[in-house]
Amino acid sequence: MTSLWFERALLPGGWAQDVRVTIDAGRITDVAAGVAVQPHDERHAIALPGLANLHCHGFQRGMAGLSEFRGRPDDDFWSWREIMYRFLDRLTPDDIAAINGLAFVEMMESGFTRVAEFHYLHNDADGRRYADPAEMAGAMVAAADESGIGLTLLPVFYAHGDFGGAPPAPGQRRFLSDVDSFAALVAASRAKLPADAGFGIAPHSLRAVTAEELTAILPLADGGPVHIHAAEQTREVEASVAWSGQRPVEWLLDHADVDARWCLVHATHLTDDECDRLAASGAVAGLCPVTEANLGDGIFPAARYLVAGGHIGIGTDSNILIDAAGELRALEYSQRLRDRRRAMLGSDAVPSIGERLFREALAGGARATAAGTGIAMGQPADLFTLDIQNTAFAGADMRTILDRWVFAARDKAIDCVWRGGRKWVAGGRHIARDAIAARYRTAVTALLA
Ligand SMILES: [Zn+2]
Repeated sequence: MTSLWFERALLPGGWAQDVRVTIDAGRITDVAAGVAVQPHDERHAIALPGLANLHCHGFQRGMAGLSEFRGRPDDDFWSWREIMYRFLDRLTPDDIAAINGLAFVEMMESGFTRVAEFHYLHNDADGRRYADPAEMAGAMVAAADESGIGLTLLPVFYAHGDFGGAPPAPGQRRFLSDVDSFAALVAASRAKLPADAGFGIAPHSLRAVTAEELTAILPLADGGPVHIHAAEQTREVEASVAWSGQRPVEWLLDHADVDARWCLVHATHLTDDECDRLAASGAVAGLCPVTEANLGDGIFPAARYLVAGGHIGIGTDSNILIDAAGELRALEYSQRLRDRRRAMLGSDAVPSIGERLFREALAGGARATAAGTGIAMGQPADLFTLDIQNTAFAGADMRTILDRWVFAARDKAIDCVWRGGRKWVAGGRHIARDAIAARYRTAVTALLA
């Protein structure tokens, strides 16, 4: 049993003072506000519930910064993808464990306590299944276990190179399944997961899966979340229209029973009608604003979508720079740059942009990862504290504390992070950082040699 006492904590009903949280067997067993600190309590200033990172391709952390040069005048998402395919050609299961390990450590240090891994690297370098079809998933599980982060595994179904069942490209051979081999992969992957892991499936995109295959694989989610990339790129939207007469999100809304179990990743390019219908569906829009900016994807219509009651969550996707606060900041700034206004994503109920986006990301992340959340009785003990010594918080009141964190705190804003009741980050530093970083350095140095 552990007991923590906070001067302030963000509870489901709002900010509370003098909060005592009791933890047993990884879960919160009691939360009491307005109570005095007791002799054995560990004391901290400000506590927040841990966030879920709802979209991640962990291995891409190993190529962060390797594609930020001018290759040709029309560099875009698709030329980045060629570089990404060349990098992943060489990855072994050990590389995956090493690279994901560091990515997960960085996530924990930035306030994420759970990650949904959109896992599509299933086959060996020649495109053959490993003897154990869940070999790569096992590497992911090992990395999550070592870092302490909660894992929601989303094995990806990927069968085609473009809309309408086009044949895959050679660079996609490590991703490929058919419906039967995917069912075997799903079963083998689930068998490797620890009890507190989440599970769902991820048809990669309408480029990679046909309508018939989508219908066939959906039952494999077994009530868990379904994630799909949709409308990240204008070229993808145009190809979808050429294939079906419909845009990707429009097609999904009309043909796939999109509901609260679904997470449409990116959903960048929406008509007003798609935006309002997606909001009404109960699905989560999985926004990855830092990656979307890095890849030149476009700007999600977040202001309209939130007014329409839509759910959002945030993901680090390509992991070019892992930073929960940075994702929320990039989301708000994208709206300001497009509309030449300020304070776009606040609401009457929660005018603070930082607090509104934090609350939205918390709720949407939990929904999209099928995980419990919040500092509340019965929930997993996943929470973090801010470092009140950071000058960004000088004189802070609770009205502005999350704005200061999101917009003005630079680094070292987080002090401690607990996941499943265990303290994994102390003084801003993950307890296993040194060993995991050393292994990462060795793996990436060898890969790039
Ligand atoms: Zn993605």
